[in-house]
Amino acid sequence: MEINPLVQSTLFCYQKIMQDYLLRVMTDDGRLLGLAAVTTQLVNQIGNIHHTSPTATAALGRALTGAALMAALLKRGQSLAITIAGDGPVGKILVEADRDGAVRGMVTHPAADLPPQDGKLQVSGIVGKNGIVTVIKDLGRKENYTGVVSLVKGEIAEDLAYYLTKSEQIPSAMSLGVYVEPPCHVTAAGGFLVQSFPPSDDKVVATIEENIKSMEPITTLLRQGETPESILRQIFTPTPYHVLEKMNLRFACSCSRARLRRVVISLGREEIRRYLETEDSMEILCHYCLKKYLFSRRELEDILSEI
Ligand SMILES: [Zn+2]
Repeated sequence: MEINPLVQSTLFCYQKIMQDYLLRVMTDDGRLLGLAAVTTQLVNQIGNIHHTSPTATAALGRALTGAALMAALLKRGQSLAITIAGDGPVGKILVEADRDGAVRGMVTHPAADLPPQDGKLQVSGIVGKNGIVTVIKDLGRKENYTGVVSLVKGEIAEDLAYYLTKSEQIPSAMSLGVYVEPPCHVTAAGGFLVQSFPPSDDKVVATIEENIKSMEPITTLLRQGETPESILRQIFTPTPYHVLEKMNLRFACSCSRARLRRVVISLGREEIRRYLETEDSMEILCHYCLKKYLFSRRELEDILSEI
């Protein structure tokens, strides 16, 4: 039997892709926390939903991975949303992650792209170097927690590390990477995050900084078959540490008819009334999973009577 070379190559690529998951470890003295994640499948899936260009896929994939790492610092039932609003052609990057490993995301202009430079995708080129990063945490309290910092690089990992260090006052190092390869699109995506808590041991921190500096890029490591386990081992050796948690990561949208109904309500009485003058139903699209929700005239009239 002959296999079409394209199919064969695609099969080969997908066979190599490991299940997305995140590992969280802590040094035995409790002063350093380390998280590493592989997100290849979910970045592929979300890129396919939004038909993102190679560079937009890398930007969105880095943001999704960063959000997954940061959400793993929350408590059960909590979630966070990150908006990266730079002055580059991709527009805004919106990502959400739940503490249980569910992530979703989108960009304003998925087709935005730039030619690679020295074989590297120009992520900061399409994100922009001027703008703001907003992190909103739903901690299950009455009011959400919001933190805002300026974009520093537009490469995303440095920007999120800057947010954690500056806004949350926890010295943090983050690395994020997405490797996009034709014809199978993303063949490696992942990242790591290291946080230091007071009182910090300067010698240990210096060793870890040296380890991180001497490491290959995260996508090279993943493509060589390294795992979150072996990446964290490279970062922390010889400091003793233990595993706190291993958690699967996945794409999952949190949209529902009830949630989209609130979007209709937010349009306001006048807008809905004006709409009903010419249309018999309203279609609302979830901007994360692109699922369509149809609201009939009857439902819209019910909403009007409620407002
Ligand atoms: Zn959705």
